[in-house]
Amino acid sequence: MLLKRLEIQGFKSFADRVELAFNSGLTVIVGPNGSGKSNIADAIRWVLGEQSVKNLRGSRLEDVIFSGSVKRKPVGMAEVSLTLDNSNGRFPLEFNEITVTRRVYRNGESEFLINKTPCRLKDIHELFLDTGLGRDAYSIIGQGRVEEILNARPEDRRSIIEEAAGIVRYRMRKLEAEKKLQETEVDLVRVEDIISELE
Ligand code: ATP
Repeated sequence: MLLKRLEIQGFKSFADRVELAFNSGLTVIVGPNGSGKSNIADAIRWVLGEQSVKNLRGSRLEDVIFSGSVKRKPVGMAEVSLTLDNSNGRFPLEFNEITVTRRVYRNGESEFLINKTPCRLKDIHELFLDTGLGRDAYSIIGQGRVEEILNARPEDRRSIIEEAAGIVRYRMRKLEAEKKLQETEVDLVRVEDIISELE
């Protein structure tokens, strides 16, 4: 799967709009300590739907918004857009490129967009299910993650293998279907009660 572009504005140390274009092959990001290399990985995690502030190395939701520096005032909004190549139809959308955008404002309001159309966080999660790229997937390996995977309980390790095997989508659908079945059974019992009351 080819990442084509990452646009960042107001996210962590990136007050101004920055665009990174990824070519095919390997991309290496180098820079002095504290220059924002890890913030780029955080931006990718965040736009893919990461909800844990801890995984984004913060303590509050608004820690992802540029909080000001000696020369710059804080900004009110963080926005990240990630563009992926879809010329091979890997994603079930009829576009050659897919751009996922996430915004958050200081008042806590936030939004997600797929190709500029507002969507739910659930849609972003579903889009990336079984691609290895979504939340909790294995394509972003942070420091300590390899050790964490090796020491994980077998059932936790299994979920990574299931994501790679592409069966998470079906597992989720099965769980949703089972939930619906249970709800329908409860409704049926209620209908039977009403019928017996009427008889
Ligand atoms: P290292 O090589 O030491 O791991 P790095 O290049 O990965 O460093 P990052 O961890 O990406 O650096 O960036 C850290 C910098 O980002 C710090 O200077 C920190 O003050 C800044 N930073 C993080 N969050 C914000 C924010 N919300 N507003 C402004 N600056 C921020």
